[in-house]
Amino acid sequence: MPEIAVRMTKRNHNAFVHLLGALESQGYDLEKLLITKDFSEILKARPKVVLYSFFTEEIWGNLPEEIKLLKEGGSLLIAGGYHAIAMPKHTLNQLGFDIAVIGEGEEVIYQLLTALERSGYRITRDLLSIPGLAFYLNGEFVFTGFAKVEDFWRFPPYPESVRLISPIEITRGCPFGCYYCQTPYIKGLRMRHRPIDQIVKYSRRMKDMRYITPNAFAYGSPGAILKLSKLEALLKALQPLRKEGRRLFYGTFPSEVRPEFVLPETLELLIDYADNRRLAIGAQSGDDAMLKAMHRLHRVEHVRRAVEYMLEYGFEPVVDFIVGLPNESKESQKKSIELMRWIMRKGGKVRAHYFMPLPGTPWARCKPSPLSEEMRRFLGRMAAKGKIEGSWGKQIELSQRLQRLMEEFYEEPMSHTVPVRDVC
Ligand code: SF4
Repeated sequence: MPEIAVRMTKRNHNAFVHLLGALESQGYDLEKLLITKDFSEILKARPKVVLYSFFTEEIWGNLPEEIKLLKEGGSLLIAGGYHAIAMPKHTLNQLGFDIAVIGEGEEVIYQLLTALERSGYRITRDLLSIPGLAFYLNGEFVFTGFAKVEDFWRFPPYPESVRLISPIEITRGCPFGCYYCQTPYIKGLRMRHRPIDQIVKYSRRMKDMRYITPNAFAYGSPGAILKLSKLEALLKALQPLRKEGRRLFYGTFPSEVRPEFVLPETLELLIDYADNRRLAIGAQSGDDAMLKAMHRLHRVEHVRRAVEYMLEYGFEPVVDFIVGLPNESKESQKKSIELMRWIMRKGGKVRAHYFMPLPGTPWARCKPSPLSEEMRRFLGRMAAKGKIEGSWGKQIELSQRLQRLMEEFYEEPMSHTVPVRDVC
């Protein structure tokens, strides 16, 4: 029976596939792991160690029950992912994990597993020399520093010995630093890109080629500007795979593009080289003052222009909004309603989300604003007609839970590159 289990879920699938690729490429034998989405299999195996990766929203799901059962069986529990990075003390003290992985996990996880094997799966002083860990040693909280993996492409996106694939992470980091988003504060403000030949090599394994990136049109650039030649080189390099029957989805699920990058030249590339005729962009608000307050660094006019261009070139725009933003007045919400209406009239789709104060972000301690009567009625009507997607209704409750969590357990974020300013 394997002594180490990997608790895969639908939500952490992509992260673990990439981590398993990294582990294997450093010489770790994946045969030693039980990798499964079936929790009962893990429970039955009574492993010495179980690896988890999760978002904060998941701490109100099955997670506490799973932790309790595994602890009763004596397993050592390791947590990675956004919640553990942003709230290591909560992860250890409240959730009951033994070790939190803080930062980019590729190297840490290899070093941690080999060290634990040496020590008979006990927390010892050996772990002090591994950057990227938080744990208790003799009752003292220890943090060994944020783990950074600048050149993440040193590690393949998939393992060879286990048949697992996922969309490929082609870009890591984001320079925009939107105040509600965890990505730049955890993955860094500098964009780094997986080289084209590697993307092509691993894309062969996908039937539908899909990619993970915060802004698909920024491929090859430092992040805030367009580098058309690099983007074109990537899309061109994938064409032989398309000719073999694979479809290429670019700038749509699970990634999106920023509105100011939607230009005739980028859309023309998609027409020539990609199969999707849908593009996802983040508008977030119809009010320039709110966009400024959330550090989006684009304006409403960029959203309108992007939607016009998409329609002109035959793309269906899918536009994300966040409602209930901190300090969002009724007038601001009115402006968002106007923009949503305009997008729908033009034939675009709107996805509405309620503001969530996520740990590790500058807006972690900000309060969501209540929805105006007009906004409530508008979203309800549009959802009933099937014109607006999104789960703002459920997210209102989740947002309240997050607020209470922040009030009770707030932790200063251990940022990747920049101090995370508390701007509430
Ligand atoms: S929301 Fe998008 S653009 Fe803004 S920081 Fe996050 S990843 Fe970057």
